[in-house]
Amino acid sequence: MEWTWELAHRFANDLAIDRNLHIVLPDNPIRKAVIAGARFAADRAGMLIVGSVLPDLSRVSVCLPLGHNDGSLVLVSEYAMSSPIIFTKTMAHEGTHDHQSDRNGHLRNAWDYGISSEARAQREAEAYAADLAVEFTLTGQVRDVHSVLQALGGPTYHMSQGSLALAGGLVKGAVESIQNNVCPPVSTAKWSVEWIHKYAPECVRGELVTR
Ligand SMILES: [Zn+2]
Repeated sequence: MEWTWELAHRFANDLAIDRNLHIVLPDNPIRKAVIAGARFAADRAGMLIVGSVLPDLSRVSVCLPLGHNDGSLVLVSEYAMSSPIIFTKTMAHEGTHDHQSDRNGHLRNAWDYGISSEARAQREAEAYAADLAVEFTLTGQVRDVHSVLQALGGPTYHMSQGSLALAGGLVKGAVESIQNNVCPPVSTAKWSVEWIHKYAPECVRGELVTR
């Protein structure tokens, strides 16, 4: 059976409930207002990174923490809507960022992410691990480390060479784990893989053990 839009939206809705995410799809009329507000807030906080990512929301999805216990706003890019699998991978990626916010404290997380290239490397590598685990489960394929590093080395993330090397090591670990049919130790990756096994077992193309 094929991974349909219906399944992808069910997955996203369940993840949203589990994580208290507010998903804003590209055709949502409030999106423009949210982006303008977020850009203003990012500028005021001097968060150049977040501010510079925001104009490119056709290509890049973003997870914006709303504050303690209020969950996160996920602004889904137009690119993420290009197929049900890409949408699902994106939700797992952004769901990981929300989990990081809960773990580190929302403000602390946003601050670290905005100012530290190393923190960005770690958080993005973890989010990509969830993304890759979903991709493998649904397609049986795992991307090579270089294609992930190409995305991380692009203008979106403003990473130093050292941070990129750190992210490279972490992504390589995730890829090797997947090649050995073990889900990377990222809670959203496990949640996502388990959801697919539970609700759409006939869509599983690649097996990953989650414990
Ligand atoms: Zn990310």
